[in-house]
Amino acid sequence: MRSVVITGASTGIGWASAKLLLDRGFRVFGSVRRQADADRLRAEFGANFTPLIFDVTDEAAVLAAAREVRAELDGETLAGLVNNAGIAVAGPVLELAAGEFRRQMEVNFIGPIIATQAFGPLLGSDPALKGPKGRIVMISSVAGKNGNPMTSAYSASKHAIEGLSESLRRELMLFGIDVIIVAPGAVKTPIWSKAEEVDISAYKNSPYFPALEKIRAFMLQLGANGLPPEQIAEKVFEALTRPNPKVRYVIAPDPMQQFMAAVLPKRTLDRIIAKRLGLMPRG
Ligand code: NDP
Repeated sequence: MRSVVITGASTGIGWASAKLLLDRGFRVFGSVRRQADADRLRAEFGANFTPLIFDVTDEAAVLAAAREVRAELDGETLAGLVNNAGIAVAGPVLELAAGEFRRQMEVNFIGPIIATQAFGPLLGSDPALKGPKGRIVMISSVAGKNGNPMTSAYSASKHAIEGLSESLRRELMLFGIDVIIVAPGAVKTPIWSKAEEVDISAYKNSPYFPALEKIRAFMLQLGANGLPPEQIAEKVFEALTRPNPKVRYVIAPDPMQQFMAAVLPKRTLDRIIAKRLGLMPRG
């Protein structure tokens, strides 16, 4: 039985990917941050699921989990690492605290690097392990190629993932380990309700407050109409198992919108977005 590690398996895309891979005969090691989630997932997923408890920013904890997985693999390679754990930090660049940008980059960008360094050897860069080489799936976003107002930190973290993945894919050719990006548009997961819980009252006196309110309402609607996470899980499965996978899979609820975003001149898009959010210059 081949094994896969998924970071951030407690809910959303990570949970759905764990479920689908288990249903298709994989053994899954899924990371959570709380013991209660570990217990819940064990009950939900059964014997072929093993919870790993770590925060992706805690290098020592991730390395300890990798030792645990190595022992369980019993000399075999890991079939895949899905770098999925992530958060979405929002706020205007002129006002969002530098610490919030750091937190965003720590989780969404440094986290996948820590996990890749910890689990990479198990994918087959360690010659002591036997079996086919594994693959890395990076969960980026359509925001890995574009940027909307108020979500610069998130967008920057996903652009960073795209650059990292492109370089890494070429570096890991040395070992026959592939790196594949899965870039979803809106997906219906708890990430959106977490955004709803953020207190934006700190921006009450900001010139951006009306736009923040508008974009928050727009985001919540986007999330509610997002793709089911099971569809992203299918792409993750494809990326892990297809003989000749693409380097990047985009999967979005509204492909036409993605197409327009790709072909319309940036200045035209700027005006459309600014008008919608009330960001046109005053007077
Ligand atoms: P969820 O909020 O449902 O899942 C996020 C997962 O990441 C949770 O398991 C969460 O664990 C975990 N996580 C968060 N911070 C950390 C951390 N510091 N260390 C370890 N684990 C952590 O959201 P999604 O399923 O939507 O998000 C999964 C990925 O998909 C993210 O990378 C996101 O950017 C990306 N994505 C999502 C889209 C969407 O519309 N939903 C669109 C495009 C990309 P815990 O429960 O402990 O917080």
